[in-house]
Amino acid sequence: MARKDRSSTSAAPVDVAVLGAGIVGICAALSLAERGMRVRLVDRGDPAQATSFGNAGVISPGSILPNSMPGLWKKVPGWLIDPLGPVSVRPGHLPRLAGWGLRFLAAGRESRVRAISAAMEHLTRDGITLYRQHLAGTGHEGLIRDASFIHAFRRARDARMDGLDTALPRAAGADIERIDGAALRAMEPALSPEFEAAIVLHGQARTLSPGRLGQVLAKKFLRMGGEIERGTVRSIRPQEEGGWAYLTESGPHAAPQLVLAMGVWSAALLRPLGIRLPLEAEHGYHVSFTDPGVTLHNSVMDMDMKFVASSMAEGLRVAGTAEFAGLDAPVNDKRLAGLVTLAGRLAPGLNRQAYSTWSGQRPSLPDSLPCLGRFDGFPGLTAAFGHSHHGLMMAPKTGRIVADLVTGQPVNVDLAPYRPSRFR
Ligand SMILES: Cc1cc2nc3c(=O)[nH]c(=O)nc-3n(C[C@H](O)[C@H](O)[C@H](O)COP(=O)(O)OP(=O)(O)OC[C@H]3O[C@@H](n4cnc5c(N)ncnc54)[C@H](O)[C@@H]3O)c2cc1C
Repeated sequence: MARKDRSSTSAAPVDVAVLGAGIVGICAALSLAERGMRVRLVDRGDPAQATSFGNAGVISPGSILPNSMPGLWKKVPGWLIDPLGPVSVRPGHLPRLAGWGLRFLAAGRESRVRAISAAMEHLTRDGITLYRQHLAGTGHEGLIRDASFIHAFRRARDARMDGLDTALPRAAGADIERIDGAALRAMEPALSPEFEAAIVLHGQARTLSPGRLGQVLAKKFLRMGGEIERGTVRSIRPQEEGGWAYLTESGPHAAPQLVLAMGVWSAALLRPLGIRLPLEAEHGYHVSFTDPGVTLHNSVMDMDMKFVASSMAEGLRVAGTAEFAGLDAPVNDKRLAGLVTLAGRLAPGLNRQAYSTWSGQRPSLPDSLPCLGRFDGFPGLTAAFGHSHHGLMMAPKTGRIVADLVTGQPVNVDLAPYRPSRFR
């Protein structure tokens, strides 16, 4: 039986239903409520408890590199055979992944990378400010901390400042510095002396609890008069008389407009409408050490093994790995064990006795950009999903753009790079 969190208003008509209460849906719902819209946020679970719960907490306007970069293909075979490597593919999933993989590699041409990076920057640029505005007055402003995003390298020669990966953020105004091992340990004494150098993005931020952040913002949405409905959305369809219907276990529900923000689960709802998208589930994992004994003051990425470590409210979290195994594949315990090992190498003083584990599914499109905007031929349906590795940091700006679209305001961003029809 579906539960409605605001039974007093649940039967009232709404202007828009936002399907999916991950961080993207929550931010969209908040921005819509700020514009005076009557908004219903629908999720089968509690807000921000799926992918948006377990991420690495990095909110970095300067992190504007797509996942597919020139030359990456040379590294992938080595990563695939290393059991601790950052990428893995379940062999049975390879045939289904092939098309996505080809598009992914095509997105790594330098000209494409420059265009994609510019489009990413539009969505990350205001992330810190917008989160702070959303949190203001909630009593939980401390959930966002100023921080640097440290990219730590074991070999000093790998920490280069002459490549595209520093040129693009620099051109966008990021404050980037290369530091040696001594300066790195002055910033982060807990890090292994194996790290010889780092590239540091200054002026970034991190959250101390991604799940809590989502919950706090969802509560704010309720206080603003928004409605949260518990229900599993089984289908969506346009109605003949205009507007939309979505079906849950409690029956059909009507709304003049829908925002589809169900992360990796969004694509399945679109298939019956004839819309097919190359949205892959990129499984990621975290291990959270609950009595770590050491602290990190910033977000730290181990650049050799491609995972992020951050001290959070719940403990020291290491998060990463990109496992392509298909939607809803079972948790791979080997990936979790690998993260425990890698965490010890990153911070040798870390107490690894007690920890909790988590796995989630990044909604990943091959060009590292989300689907954001209207669907051709389906007025009243807005896409807001597919944020892959960057959904936390892109969510508030995505929410603003969704609110512009739904309320018919001019959008001050060129939406062409994010249009859902770009994969045809
Ligand atoms: C290991 C890891 C580390 C990461 N680190 C970072 C980071 O540091 N910074 C960053 O910016 N991003 C990071 N990300 C990416 C980020 O977590 C995601 O991009 C983001 O959480 C996606 O949010 P979302 O709201 O689109 O999806 P989700 O959080 O997955 O939300 C989708 C919602 O839809 C609901 N839903 C699904 N199906 C249905 C249905 N049928 N009916 C009703 N509800 C439904 C789900 O319950 C869920 O609440 C990381 C991801 C991983 C896995």
